[in-house]
Amino acid sequence: MKPVRFSRSVFLVLVIFISACAFPPSSPTIANTPAASASESGNIPALSPDAVFHNGIILTMDENQPQAQAIAIDGGSILAVGSDSEILALRDSSTLVVDLQGMTVTPGLVDSHQHRIGDRSKRNQNEADSVIQLAIEQGWTTLDELFVNQERLNELRALDQEGRLRLRVNAYLPVMDNSPEGRFMGPYYEDYSQGQMVSPRVRVAGLKVFTDFDNATILFWEQDDLNAFLLKLHQEGWQLAIKTVSSRSLEMVLKAFEYIESSDPSVIASRGRLEHVLFLTADQIARVRHLGLIPSIQTNMPGEMVGDSSMAALIAREPPGSAFPWRSLVDSEIVFANGSAWPSYYVDEPTGAPFASPIRLIYQAVTRAGNLGAQPEAWMLDQTITAEEALRGLTIDAAYANFQDDVLGSLTAGKLADMVVLSDNPLSGITSDINNIKVLMTMIDGEVEYCAAGFETLCPGIRTPGPIPSQVSEGPQATAFTGGWEGIDPLDGSTLTLSLVQTENGLTGTYNDTYSPNVEPPGYEGNGSGTTLSSTTAQMTFSLTRWDGKSAQAQYSLTLSNQNQTLTLGCEVGCPIVLQRQ
Ligand SMILES: [Zn+2]
Repeated sequence: MKPVRFSRSVFLVLVIFISACAFPPSSPTIANTPAASASESGNIPALSPDAVFHNGIILTMDENQPQAQAIAIDGGSILAVGSDSEILALRDSSTLVVDLQGMTVTPGLVDSHQHRIGDRSKRNQNEADSVIQLAIEQGWTTLDELFVNQERLNELRALDQEGRLRLRVNAYLPVMDNSPEGRFMGPYYEDYSQGQMVSPRVRVAGLKVFTDFDNATILFWEQDDLNAFLLKLHQEGWQLAIKTVSSRSLEMVLKAFEYIESSDPSVIASRGRLEHVLFLTADQIARVRHLGLIPSIQTNMPGEMVGDSSMAALIAREPPGSAFPWRSLVDSEIVFANGSAWPSYYVDEPTGAPFASPIRLIYQAVTRAGNLGAQPEAWMLDQTITAEEALRGLTIDAAYANFQDDVLGSLTAGKLADMVVLSDNPLSGITSDINNIKVLMTMIDGEVEYCAAGFETLCPGIRTPGPIPSQVSEGPQATAFTGGWEGIDPLDGSTLTLSLVQTENGLTGTYNDTYSPNVEPPGYEGNGSGTTLSSTTAQMTFSLTRWDGKSAQAQYSLTLSNQNQTLTLGCEVGCPIVLQRQ
């Protein structure tokens, strides 16, 4: 089986922000690039966006313009955000125009704490490509990997160089000088620096320091040692992401940051992060705010642990009222980052949105619904937050926690074009509907990296732009794709069969890639649908099931030739595959 993805080029992005007052309030906000210089009069300059999306609900997460109808993309950047008429006025003959038909668009979603790539084997995932694909299908465009040692950094860089790292990764390097198992790692992190891009999509985001272990029953540090160690790393310019579970270890972390503050009053600017923080007293919340520390929380907590006895024991030994106080954090105007912690606390077979997906994190933030079947307790319901607050933690506030809010986290002119199209608006106020929202399209760097089957019209760039209506009238394609086809997969020698049925301008089909001893995994079958682009070309997306029960998606462009006897599958790896009519 071929990992299939869209071609992607690297864009150099010039990001220059203009003040909002450069335009009258009714104008869309537009990136001030050399190709788009605004005139003094405030008229919208001549622009040539690659694509415009209109007739949608654009949740910008930009407080200067919270909601819009349309967005223009050029290269890897957001060119403009505004009303339908404003944005449609920017198009020219080469612009792809996408009618969102009322769908919702959010910024690309940032998982602030997870280990998908590094710890994938814990969930029986062997291939980095498959966990990356799953993340993109859920709408994630940036992953904060919270344990990237030298070996994992090498893998991420290699994936990126091979074009397989299809989303952004913020790598937090673990430093464990204080623990027996950590000492062998040594000071490898000294070869890197804060914010360093080690490849186009892999960024060294900071250092991860551990303070407690085994549900906080083991503390790693003496206070003086922690003070000295964190001060040293702070003075070296590192952002510190401190893992702290218990209020006791949090107390040590707060004292250490207060120690840093005594020699550096601007410690707030270093955006220290509190990873997994679960228990905070009212006094500690006030100190977190004062120090500008960013709780890196998982809003699926404690929902998925409701009814779990180890969690109940943990809560019982903490100060009353200190557990998972998400509402108290928001009410104290503390910026928090939201993440899934995948693969930790994993629960199989959820209903609705996939486990650890951003949609499910929002749903659980609002409902505190559990995955283990238990109802949330009253004190949990007192600490619910709104869908918008949860979404902030997955977008603009997550980007802030990564020092990337200048380029990511909101749909703002000039920022990078990472965005997600959703089937419904999670901020509509109908809580029960959130869990059923589907991701229809995921765009990263202006390129479509995922397009849900049947929603190809929302996905510019996966089909060749052209005068489709005139070709529809040609007629031949009404039968051209109907039939069965078979050929040898050049990548692994297995036999691939495809049968296609034409229905007006659409195609449906079945896909079968037989077992071959040379291929791992051992075979696929599934169904797909797509759109006919001309009498000889089409675009199809297949939802495939592996013979071992795992699911996958594949996207192909199809080309017919030789009096329809030959069908060529176009994709990026292991293609073309030439199939013969059966
Ligand atoms: Zn973690």
